[in-house]
Amino acid sequence: MNPKVDKDLCISCGLCTEICPDVFELGPDDKATVKDNANLDAECIKEAADSCPTEAIAVD
Ligand code: SF4
Repeated sequence: MNPKVDKDLCISCGLCTEICPDVFELGPDDKATVKDNANLDAECIKEAADSCPTEAIAVD
């Protein structure tokens, strides 16, 4: 799984970082980013993507 965050869509709600703290974090610009060497837990990423209010998380 290769999650990506569209920063133009992210509203910095922090939900993905709560659902999946090993993968997502809020960066210096307060937008969600995928952590380096993130522990890519597919279930968790899917839940975060489904929960994002602006559908900013894409998974391929
Ligand atoms: S859940 Fe979506 S809008 Fe909220 S911080 Fe994560 S990427 Fe941004």
